[in-house]
Amino acid sequence: MKINIGTAGVPISTKEHNTIEGIRRVKELGLQAMEVEFVRGVAMGNGLAKKAGKVAKEDGIILSVHAPYYINLCNPEKAEASMKRILDSCERAHHLGAEVVVFHPGFYGDLSKEECSKRVFNACKEMNNILRENKWNVKLGMETTGKVSQFGTLDEIIDIHEKIRNCIPVVDWSHMFARDNGKIDFAEIVKKLESLNLPKYHTHFSGIEFTEKGERRHIVLEYKQPDFEELVKVLMRSRIKEMTIICESPILEKDALYMIDTLKRNGYN
Ligand SMILES: [Zn+2]
Repeated sequence: MKINIGTAGVPISTKEHNTIEGIRRVKELGLQAMEVEFVRGVAMGNGLAKKAGKVAKEDGIILSVHAPYYINLCNPEKAEASMKRILDSCERAHHLGAEVVVFHPGFYGDLSKEECSKRVFNACKEMNNILRENKWNVKLGMETTGKVSQFGTLDEIIDIHEKIRNCIPVVDWSHMFARDNGKIDFAEIVKKLESLNLPKYHTHFSGIEFTEKGERRHIVLEYKQPDFEELVKVLMRSRIKEMTIICESPILEKDALYMIDTLKRNGYN
């Protein structure tokens, strides 16, 4: 099995804080991936995206993109603008050579879970058609969400993936742990992922604080909330061929390097 470890955004220790320098720093640190964060809006142009993509390709760094946070595909008044944010991210991702655009689908609000699922499905279908028309070679990555008010349990997301293959589940292990009040069954989740038979999986990991409503904030891995090593042990026994794990800890690359250490300690090479 191949495991790629990366940072959520430019590593903190990067001298000049920009995407290209971030990619170079990721390479220097001995990491394999970086997620380009458009969480506060898509500010990058296609020209810079192409340049950064070239650097990543030369350095052998796997890129992904995180779309803006302000997305709600369940709310009819917000769906249009939300789709635009995701599609803008997809266009940049295509030029970056990024494989997947990660987003949080939305909030249930007053709607039933079934109604939300229908709306997310319709939006994804429309977006996927636009990806095809434009020949943007990226996947729509629906993230498992950390709050009980948010659409995005693993089952809800897999259900959409089964109808639209180019919409893939992005497991945020910490969100699933927080949403379930500090419980996570790594083996069960990995079993569900294995059954999808994807050539490659994209996931997020960090420590997390939570309340009964779910996620509160990201914390360092040291607290073992959840325990990264437990996940590694399950992965090493799994049939999954390749997985990228993006580290979302507040100390980014320090914990990403701790992840690499943990992998080695468990016999990964
Ligand atoms: Zn996210």
